[in-house]
Amino acid sequence: MPAKRARPPASALRAGLAKLGLVRPVDFLLHFPLRYEDETRVIRIGDALPGTPVQVEATVLDVAVQYRPRRQLVVRVAEAADGAGAGTELTLRFLNFYGSQAKQLEGARDAGRRLRLFGEIRYGFLGAEMVHPRYRVIAEGEALPEALTPVYPATAGVSQQALRREIARVLAAAAGTELLDELLDPDWLAAHELPAFPEAVRFLHAPPPAAPEPALQQGTHPAWRRIRFDELLAQQLSLRRAYLARREKGAPCLPAAGTLAQRLLAALPFGLTGAQRRVVAEIAADLACPHPMQRLLQGDVGSGKTIVAALAACQAIEAGYQAAFMAPTEILAEQHYLKLSAWLQPLGVEVAWLSGSLRAAARRAMQARAAGSAQLVVGTHALIQDSVDFARLGLAIIDEQHRFGVAQRLALRRKGEAAALLPHQLMMSATPIPRTLAMSYYADLDVSVLDELPPGRTPIRTKLVSDVRRDEVIAGVRGAVAKGRQAYWVCPLIEESEKLQLQTALDTFQTLAEALDDLRIGLVHGRLKADEKAATMAAFADGTIDVLVATTVIEVGVDVPNASLMVIEHAERFGLAQLHQLRGRVGRGAHDSVCVLLYQTPLSETARARLRIIYEHTDGFEIARRDLQLRGPGEFIGSRQSGVPLLRYADLERDADLVETAQALAERLLRDDPARVARHLDRWLGSREELLKA
Ligand code: ADP
Ligand code: MG
Repeated sequence: MPAKRARPPASALRAGLAKLGLVRPVDFLLHFPLRYEDETRVIRIGDALPGTPVQVEATVLDVAVQYRPRRQLVVRVAEAADGAGAGTELTLRFLNFYGSQAKQLEGARDAGRRLRLFGEIRYGFLGAEMVHPRYRVIAEGEALPEALTPVYPATAGVSQQALRREIARVLAAAAGTELLDELLDPDWLAAHELPAFPEAVRFLHAPPPAAPEPALQQGTHPAWRRIRFDELLAQQLSLRRAYLARREKGAPCLPAAGTLAQRLLAALPFGLTGAQRRVVAEIAADLACPHPMQRLLQGDVGSGKTIVAALAACQAIEAGYQAAFMAPTEILAEQHYLKLSAWLQPLGVEVAWLSGSLRAAARRAMQARAAGSAQLVVGTHALIQDSVDFARLGLAIIDEQHRFGVAQRLALRRKGEAAALLPHQLMMSATPIPRTLAMSYYADLDVSVLDELPPGRTPIRTKLVSDVRRDEVIAGVRGAVAKGRQAYWVCPLIEESEKLQLQTALDTFQTLAEALDDLRIGLVHGRLKADEKAATMAAFADGTIDVLVATTVIEVGVDVPNASLMVIEHAERFGLAQLHQLRGRVGRGAHDSVCVLLYQTPLSETARARLRIIYEHTDGFEIARRDLQLRGPGEFIGSRQSGVPLLRYADLERDADLVETAQALAERLLRDDPARVARHLDRWLGSREELLKA
């Protein structure tokens, strides 16, 4: 395409372009079309397929402004082609138009000039018509474009026209410059059936008319694969580089002596599953290295992550270091504190508790212990506050890590950054994410997976019940309690208003207390004081409360094996991961467990699809995979995603093979060719790379 000498963009245009991330020349090159329009051919009006955009040429017969049914510009035109089909009429309809347009079209009619029209032809009451076609009055014998017309992602203030012009300008100027350098080895590319970078870029911006259109539009064309590969490679390089940089730092070496761990295992009422043994060994090997572990432990709800973490803590403690165990909510942290104390205190380990709700004096005392003799400190994010100084932190365990925000994770990561030795980090998550997603977004972590549930669990039966049958559900609660079981009743989620959420919880409690006046009902919600929450949870755990009415504060981690019934109100308002977590609160003992999802009719299409997924599947990974299909990765990753530029072109479902190839190549390039790594990252991420590391 010949370089047009265009004016440099005016400042409004420049601002609009910047909003699209188009600042450096290479940004323009990597701004690829969403789709294409074929303006390289003119076809006969009579040959147009309905629903397909086409280009035709015609002369104007008649121009009129009509007022019924609403104000519109109606233009009658006739096929301009010679020979067969000449004179076929077509009506153009413009609902938004300028007065000058009518004048221009009348002028074309009077001068007998042709219009080139682009749009979809539909057959209506008055025959063939085009609504809002793109049109141009053309000069005699004006040539057709030689490439498909790209349609770019645009934004307010930047027209397609302007985008095409600017991108074409940069593309022409880039020919033969380093902007289009091939950064990858040609033989390697050939072996992986990927085309060269400059060709792929040029092809996608201006594909020849003979280009295989479906492959191009659907993104399966090799040129697209190359671009998606490069994007995934940039992501892998960036995350792996951050990983390696942290890995360079020192960490205390915590050899696996194993005596404390052995004693803990001997005292447990159960033996580890195979998956637990494997993961425990992976972690033990990491801890024995003089570099900080950066490991994510993924395991479905109930897969037994806590004991794995406790065994890791034993290793740190035995080596003379401290372990910190952080959980996202008070309830969960407290529960961990109780469980870990019960396991470890009898073995002579000093366990301390630290949370934001401790009174000042108690807090100071606990901080003093963290800075002194405590060997394991359990708590909420109060653990990462500045005033907490660990005497010799060797291992930081973060439970339900996806529940912490990016800022909190960074704070934790920074804690001790200045110190010569960084603590090892074990992050745990019960939101299993599909493998490619993990490979992609957690490329800066080593990942261990608990893919086996402890034996003896009875499967949970899930029931979908319309809200109109609430009375039957209440009767079901009574029945479960009569059999000696306990139940959770989860209140509707009201995201818009915390106040309303609280009110609903109080109302639900009230109604249930009346309907089940012979049962002992408890209530927990986010607004209770920590000790009130703790007292209620303790009462539920030891069976003095039959039914626990709760907001989603109980979503994660809570473990009461005698609870066998879970009722979730307005289930359609919850996310799938959340429902899976909530459901995982039951089925923890040997009893038959039921999860009732109460929903309000009518259900939207998506709500129905989501409830069906949770109804049909109990495997967290499968649910996650389907959730991903339903929602796309952006929302899925949640807070991890904020600040991280989404993959623009790659699709982790479709491009799973490319993710693996990119990972392998990234590993090699980081080892062998840092200069090339830097250039690739600069090309793809530029100034955005900092954000990716969050
Ligand atoms: P999660 O992975 O969801 O955090 P937990 O660590 O809370 O799961 O474990 C769930 C329950 O299973 C707990 O009561 C725990 O003591 C028990 N548990 C863990 N591992 C085993 C095992 N290997 N055999 C039997 N029960 C186990
Ligand atoms: Mg847990």
